[in-house]
Amino acid sequence: MKSQYLIYVFIIAWCNLSLPAQDFTHLETALGRSSDSELVKVRIADVPEDQGIWVRSRQGFAVILPESGQEIAVIPAANALVYVLRSVIHAGGTPLPGGVVLLVPREDLFTVNGIRYRGELIAARANGRLTIVNRLPVEEYLRGVLPHEVDPAWHEEALKAQAIVSRSYVLSRALDNKSQAHDLDNSTASQVYRGASGEKPSTDQAVAETSGLVMTHNGQIAVGFFHSCCGGSTEDSGDVWSRTLPYLRARPSPYCEGTKHRDWGVVLGKAELAQVLGMSGEINAIEVRGRTSGGRAVHVFAQSTSGESQQVTGERFRVLVGVNRLKSRLFDLSIRGPYVQVLGHGWGHGVGMCQWSSAKMAELGFDAAGIVHYFFTDVRIEPRRVRWPAP
Ligand SMILES: [Zn+2]
Repeated sequence: MKSQYLIYVFIIAWCNLSLPAQDFTHLETALGRSSDSELVKVRIADVPEDQGIWVRSRQGFAVILPESGQEIAVIPAANALVYVLRSVIHAGGTPLPGGVVLLVPREDLFTVNGIRYRGELIAARANGRLTIVNRLPVEEYLRGVLPHEVDPAWHEEALKAQAIVSRSYVLSRALDNKSQAHDLDNSTASQVYRGASGEKPSTDQAVAETSGLVMTHNGQIAVGFFHSCCGGSTEDSGDVWSRTLPYLRARPSPYCEGTKHRDWGVVLGKAELAQVLGMSGEINAIEVRGRTSGGRAVHVFAQSTSGESQQVTGERFRVLVGVNRLKSRLFDLSIRGPYVQVLGHGWGHGVGMCQWSSAKMAELGFDAAGIVHYFFTDVRIEPRRVRWPAP
């Protein structure tokens, strides 16, 4: 490679690295902040700027500037490619000024990547990427979350508990992301959301029957953490993340006993595991060192036949082996012939509500409030107060 070319590559890389992060704080009110208004903003597509995203609405879209509320164009085509050309967002071939535009479908639903959505679209350029955000009322967002976070066939009280917890999650999370054009992702990183495409009557009903209800602690909306299965005990938030929240405490739960993620086992080759931990040879000693109040591994210590040893955190061990192989860090380790055997319990971080327990508790006669109060210490369930008038 020629040296001039190398310098050119370096300058391009440096320019990209030195771009300031796009900050949307000044548009917070104009875009609608979930904590203040009834709107939530979910990132549903995100591509490099040299790629486009197809959006579809049979009657086309009106284009609105968020700051002024002014309608600046109409895209009449049912299918429009949203893309960036010379730093300007285009939709259906029409250039749209500003780094952020609101596309309002001229019928109830629109489609992105084959998934139907309610509400509106925000197209935003940020940090070299084109992002499509779905903006919609919180209650409609929850209709697109619940069928993917629980089994819609579960007892209605378990579905209602999930609606209260998910609503508390989204409204508390929205406070943390005000510098971005979106509040949440559509994946397990936030809550799984698939728009109107997966809505089910049972989960729609659970959202409607708990409409506006959230968990609060000392007058603030409590963060509604949940996980698939606690494996027998939930966890203190401070033992999983650096932040200790008083209402997220370790708590035994017998209710998920016998459900599908409660107990699991994995065998790992001794040589493979040594390699994963950055050692040569084979594992010849391994143990959990320290347990959290919920029983999860704080550290894993291992030795190999080469004489090396290694200690990693329980969470690091889970990541190195694979978070889908080790479904939690509530496990025991032992050497069995050529293998290291891992016997574990539960799936997920273990903080907040155990969903499989909630399903069984509802069958046993707990109502939604009883389920919520079991997993969240000292919270109230009350109608959410919108703290400022919606813009
Ligand atoms: Zn559980």
